[in-house]
Amino acid sequence: MGALKQVVLATGNPGKAREMESMLGEAFEALTQADFEVVSPAETGASFLENALLKARHAAALSGLPAIGDDSGLEVDALDGAPGIYSARYAGINANDELNVARLLRQLRDVPEERRQARFRCVAVYVRSADDPSPIIVEGAWEGSIALAPRGQGGFGYDPVFIDPDSGRTAAELDAAAKNARSHRGQAMQSLKERLAGLPE
Ligand code: IMP
Repeated sequence: MGALKQVVLATGNPGKAREMESMLGEAFEALTQADFEVVSPAETGASFLENALLKARHAAALSGLPAIGDDSGLEVDALDGAPGIYSARYAGINANDELNVARLLRQLRDVPEERRQARFRCVAVYVRSADDPSPIIVEGAWEGSIALAPRGQGGFGYDPVFIDPDSGRTAAELDAAAKNARSHRGQAMQSLKERLAGLPE
């Protein structure tokens, strides 16, 4: 067997990098963009896909290696799909997970349980090089609803308020393997793995 194929994970979010790396499995040597001192580009795209491509191309350009970029977020029906592509900065430029969750719960204060449907979405792309004209594009979605108050210690981002309907638990109450098995990012990475397995060496 030859050396493992190297790929750069184009994210500066350690929670996401951890999940992506464990989902990619043994077929790749996953490097992070921090290994190349890559700083994430501004997410100026108008869609998850545009942002995922932007991140992947940027990491590939600076590292000289293939890269996987992903963009993800939470869509809440009662908020017409917000925060969507703005999930990471929902509470403003100095947002963090806690402030974002607090803003979300405030916005949904008057929305009863039966109207709190939401989903996490993830689009992931693989580019062989910065100017790859035919990136591999995959996606995943995780349907659920928003809790009335945060619960659980695991995960990151909106996990403490996202209820997985199958278990009734929030994503922060699931262990990492259970979350990865059903999450938007887990689905996207599984599809990506299958597509990458079919690529010529
Ligand atoms: P991105 O780094 O631009 O993809 O930002 C995604 C943002 O969406 C994160 O900062 C979180 O706020 C939210 N998000 C995406 N995936 C998840 C997840 O699996 N759990 C909780 N929040 C998530």
